[in-house]
Amino acid sequence: MLLVMLGPPGSGKGTQASRLAEKLDLHHLSTGDMLRSAVKNETELGKKAKEYMEKGDLVPDSLILDMIRETIKNDQGSGFIFDGFPRTIPQAEGLDKMLQSEGEELDGALNLDVSDQEVIKRLSGRYFCPQCQRTYNYPSNLPEQEGFCDECGVELQKRKDDTEEVVKNRLEVYKKQTQPLIDYYKDKSILVNVDGERDIGVIFNDLVTITQSL
Ligand code: ADP
Ligand code: ADP
Ligand code: ZN
Repeated sequence: MLLVMLGPPGSGKGTQASRLAEKLDLHHLSTGDMLRSAVKNETELGKKAKEYMEKGDLVPDSLILDMIRETIKNDQGSGFIFDGFPRTIPQAEGLDKMLQSEGEELDGALNLDVSDQEVIKRLSGRYFCPQCQRTYNYPSNLPEQEGFCDECGVELQKRKDDTEEVVKNRLEVYKKQTQPLIDYYKDKSILVNVDGERDIGVIFNDLVTITQSL
């Protein structure tokens, strides 16, 4: 199975994709997590991506497509859930081409529908575990012990790009460059819209049911 998670920043893509990956035995491929790790490890890619990420702008398509190509070529025969990718029409076209050359195609594009107001609220309360990348939220998705990851016990952190100013830019970038993907996948008849402003577990159950009928 090959799935794409769509939705604005903070809509819950990562939260749902990691649960779905576990449930459906898919690889969860988050370009945001991969890029943050590249920045942390000061790789060539990380050095090139850092400034864009700090401002909330998109990293150039060619860098992203190279990174995806490298990752999926080492993982042939397995299913994927792409989270935070594609984010532009050229990225979507690039992915389609890569899959086509393997005789594959996407099964579904799951779009989490969440308002700007809710996105801003969620991102201001988002915390993440620097070890396993799991995200939490104050107050909507608390860890068992305040400030520490349930899985690793590691101290939770805030993302540098979850500040008010950068979030504002990320939302603008989303509307200009990423939202057109909704029509792109609608035209291919693989778009599924999901109300993303419900409980995490309720949305998850919906997504599981949807993927069973793809
Ligand atoms: P994205 O990957 O789309 O940027 P995340 O999965 O990181 O989004 O979620 C953004 C924030 O909102 C996190 O703090 C997460 O815990 C929280 N969150 C995710 N889904 C929901 C939901 N359905 N209701 C309330 N908060 C949520
Ligand atoms: P969000 O919470 O907005 O979903 P991500 O973790 O997916 O955030 O992405 C963080 C940042 O990494 C983005 O603002 C962007 O700079 C960069 N990024 C992640 N994925 C992509 C992509 N597919 N194309 C371009 N830039 C990306
Ligand atoms: Zn953790």
